[in-house]
Amino acid sequence: MPTELARAAGTGSSVVVDRCEVCGAAGLEPVLFLGYLPPVNQMRPIGQRPHEQPAYPAELLLCPRCQLVQLGLIVDPAILFPPEYPYTSGTTRILRENFAELQREATSLLGLRGDELVVDVGSNDGTLLESFRAAGHPVCGVEPTLMANLANSRGVRTIMSFFGPAAASRVTAECGRARVVTATNVFAHIEGVHEIVDSVLAMLDDEGVFVTESHYLMALIETLQYDTIYHEHLRHYSLESLSYLFRMHGLEVIHAKRIPTHGGSIRVYAARAGARPVEPSVEQLLAAERQGGPLADRLKAFARRVARSKMELHALLRDPLAGGARMFGVGAPSRASTLINYTGLDRQLLECVVEVSGSYKVGKYMPGTVIPVVDEAALFDEQPELALLLSWHIADELMPKLTARGFRGRYVVPLPQPRIVGGTQ
Ligand SMILES: [Zn+2]
Repeated sequence: MPTELARAAGTGSSVVVDRCEVCGAAGLEPVLFLGYLPPVNQMRPIGQRPHEQPAYPAELLLCPRCQLVQLGLIVDPAILFPPEYPYTSGTTRILRENFAELQREATSLLGLRGDELVVDVGSNDGTLLESFRAAGHPVCGVEPTLMANLANSRGVRTIMSFFGPAAASRVTAECGRARVVTATNVFAHIEGVHEIVDSVLAMLDDEGVFVTESHYLMALIETLQYDTIYHEHLRHYSLESLSYLFRMHGLEVIHAKRIPTHGGSIRVYAARAGARPVEPSVEQLLAAERQGGPLADRLKAFARRVARSKMELHALLRDPLAGGARMFGVGAPSRASTLINYTGLDRQLLECVVEVSGSYKVGKYMPGTVIPVVDEAALFDEQPELALLLSWHIADELMPKLTARGFRGRYVVPLPQPRIVGGTQ
């Protein structure tokens, strides 16, 4: 078990990763460097003159021993996840459907009874726990942001806290031990991963199961989702690296599968070794990962494709923009910050980014730029020639919707292969 790893929490700053967060190995291999990126959730109000702000190096590293792909810098979570952290899982249809499916799958796979406690780590607005509560389960969430209040007001019991040993003790003291602990889209975000797993184990009963959902390294590689690389995402798991981590804690993966959330994630069930049967899905997914060849080689090819996609995007945009076309961005998810900053799309190229009415991002600048985020009405009122889809991983869902709502321009899909699509102009 690695010891003496520097921790960013409480520093008000960041720490450099010089040994693997999971296995402690030194000699981490650089994979890709995307430059210095601003924190994605510190957006300045429109009109404020640009002033000094932090920027953090975004370098991806591969551990040669446990095959974990991890970020080379850990930023203090107090900077990345302030209480007013704006993300709400309940507002996204694909996430709501995924959570309902998780509840059904867990119930049938684990033979859950309605009186067994379900705990969600990083429970956000309580959307996932709502599914379990509707099935009769007692539930408890742990959530560091003000979303905890929203969850509580909906009747989903939620402790407002960062997760760790203290929060775990509080859960067991107040609610007892859990049959299921879930962590969706947070397990790759928290530093001190061994303490996190130990804290989860302390909450689980003997046959308890830990269910994680994380953005999947193989999806990152396959569809060139380098824009999911930013400082909230400390680790990019494969099933192999995740299994390695769990084995260090006496846990065994009993079921794993790919799911569509966030452009491609994995859902992994882990139980105390020997406590539950292992599904064939585990070996199947591991075999599929191995089929792609050595990870170091795949990541080298990935880095070359990332660079090529940037050049191809500029080549694609050169003629229309030089000819005077206007381009608006559509959607301001966190990943848009990486894409815009890495490709260098500045205010002169990208006039504004539109977001849904009521989003807290409207009225702010995109991180690290002076590109304003404005109400989506602007897209339909002003009809720019080009709409750059910053949530490109759902482009096929977005384009017909925007066209049906009256947008007449063409769409720029920046990844994985930059292309301009459709329109009537
Ligand atoms: Zn390692």
